[in-house]
Amino acid sequence: MKCPNCAQENRASLKFCRKCGRDLTLPPAWFPGWKWHLKTLSWIYLVIIAGFFTLSWLLHKLPPPYDQRRIPPEMTPWLSPHKIPAP
Ligand SMILES: [Zn+2]
Repeated sequence: MKCPNCAQENRASLKFCRKCGRDLTLPPAWFPGWKWHLKTLSWIYLVIIAGFFTLSWLLHKLPPPYDQRRIPPEMTPWLSPHKIPAP
């Protein structure tokens, strides 16, 4: 049996690696391949993008004045610092 840690060849009856002492009775660790990453990341991006459009659509359905997209400049004077707001 090959050690999953150091690749040392060990007898099948051994419970621990001769070289590094790793427990050989444990199953080898699972390492996902690039297909798993592609599938998982695709689902994550799909959910995020679909969620964004769903939330955006729901926010556009709000009644006035919550549906407005433009914030009055007197509420955000830091966005137009060169204009002096009217008193
Ligand atoms: Zn080993």
